[in-house]
Amino acid sequence: MEYYSSQISLLIEQLASLPGIGGKTAQRLAFHIIDMPKERVEKLADTIVKAKQTIRYCSQCLTLTDRELCPVCSNPARDQKTIMVVENPRDMSAYEKTGKYEGVYHVLHGAISPMLGIGPADIRLKELMHRLEKDVDEVIIATNSSLEGETTAMYISKLVKPTGIKVSRIASGVPVGGDLEYIDEVTLLRALEGRVEL
Ligand code: ZN
Repeated sequence: MEYYSSQISLLIEQLASLPGIGGKTAQRLAFHIIDMPKERVEKLADTIVKAKQTIRYCSQCLTLTDRELCPVCSNPARDQKTIMVVENPRDMSAYEKTGKYEGVYHVLHGAISPMLGIGPADIRLKELMHRLEKDVDEVIIATNSSLEGETTAMYISKLVKPTGIKVSRIASGVPVGGDLEYIDEVTLLRALEGRVEL
C-alpha cells in the first residue's frame, strides 16, 4: 500500500537501509528532512558526498582519514614502536577517547570468521606483518572478545611470535561478545593495563 508519494517512500527506504535505523525512525527523519530549509538539506547531502569522496585509509594504520597519514600516525609524540591491533576504526576511537594510550594502531577491518567464510587473507593482516619488518617493540592485540575476535587474536599471535616481537592480549573484563566501542573508558584502560603476554 502506497501512503506517500514515491519520492518520500524512496527517501524513507534509503534511510531505513542504514544500520540502526528502523522503519519508524526512517519515517521521522524523512519528514524532518523535508521540513528543513533547502540550504541545510543541500549542505547535508553535500557533506555526505564530500566525505565519501575524500575519506580513505591511512597509509600506515589503515584507519579512515582524509590525509595520507592519520593524525595519530603523524603525531611525533606517539610511540611508533607499540602497535595496538583493533578490528575497526570505531574500536580505535574508543581507545583514543581514553586519552591514555600513547602508541599507534593497526586496523584490520574485520575479524577471522570461518563461519562467515572470512579468512586471514580477507582482513588487513599482510599490512600488519609488513609493518613488523620495521623496529617494533610490542604488538597489543585488542580484537573483541567474541569468537571471531579470539580466533583472530590467536592467529595473529602465532604469526608474530616467530619475529621475536612481544605480543600481548588485552585483559578480559571486556564482556564476551562485547563490542569495544560500547565499553566505558575505565574498563578499556583496565583491559589495556592488565594485558597479558602471549
Ligand atoms: Zn594512521
